[in-house]
Amino acid sequence: MNRALLLKAAGLVTAIAVCAVLVPGCGAPGRNGQNWPADHAGPKVVVSFAPLYCFAASVAGDDAVVKNVMTSKGPHDFDPTADDIALVSQADLFFVVGLGLDEKKAEVMRSGSGNKNMKIIELGEKLDKKDLCEGFCTHADHGADHKHDTDPHVWLSPTHAAKLVGFIRDELKAKDPAHAAGYESRAAAYIEKLNAVKAYGVEKFKDKQDKKLVSFHDSLAYFEECFQLNVRGVLTKKPGQEPSDKEMKELIRICIRKTSPVRVILTEPQYSTSSSGETLRKDLVASGVEDPVLVEFDPLETVRPDELALDWYEKKMRDNIDRLAEKMK
Ligand SMILES: [Zn+2]
Repeated sequence: MNRALLLKAAGLVTAIAVCAVLVPGCGAPGRNGQNWPADHAGPKVVVSFAPLYCFAASVAGDDAVVKNVMTSKGPHDFDPTADDIALVSQADLFFVVGLGLDEKKAEVMRSGSGNKNMKIIELGEKLDKKDLCEGFCTHADHGADHKHDTDPHVWLSPTHAAKLVGFIRDELKAKDPAHAAGYESRAAAYIEKLNAVKAYGVEKFKDKQDKKLVSFHDSLAYFEECFQLNVRGVLTKKPGQEPSDKEMKELIRICIRKTSPVRVILTEPQYSTSSSGETLRKDLVASGVEDPVLVEFDPLETVRPDELALDWYEKKMRDNIDRLAEKMK
């Protein structure tokens, strides 16, 4: 464990200790009043963020209880609270994506909670290596010691999502074999829905002549692959951090090529105050690119707690597809 992580873990343990002293009975209720039902004997399952909630809860049905941890702050920004750790303290399984995205935060919560029996399952790590993409980098990044990281945003491809659902199904069957048939049939039904989302997108994009775009953060590789789009660059290397002048110049250079201009620029609702997309759009107008547009794309990393439902992932994916298809030519 590195030093920063140790400090963070120590802080959380302190938070729990303080909480236990100040609040009698603290440790039972979870985040936002989330509790584990006392009268349910099935597996207690925690997931890191919203898409995994839709996947796991759809497979769990009434046989297991699923709780989602991250809401307004997604896996790039989230820091667990004492409430989150209280929730995790009684869980049996913790599904995360892994691939460098959220597994360390799950480890911090497990060590903070002292729940040695809980299994953390890194779903993305179970994917075949050939199904994984490297993180985006521009040519200027390539140095002697340059190494590509794996892009963790696998949930943005319905094809990959279906595989994650299969891994969740297998873990639930292993944990609770008495209800294996239920997990099996619900997973099959949900995978059908994911296949329908993919078919919806394929149909929407199939007649587009120009599928080039600039994404907001480096999250689109699997969505791009699934729907045969063409991501030419990213606005921000780190979500929340505006591009430097040098990076912006490089993006403009990529976007104004006479033979293959890029006119679609993605923004994200989570970073609505960022002005880099609009700055780029104006620069493209000034450079003679025809009709550059901003399109909001939600990478599904955050959720409003009152909106989280079994069909949230499908709805949000269709919304993304609709907005993008409307503006693409
Ligand atoms: Zn991301």
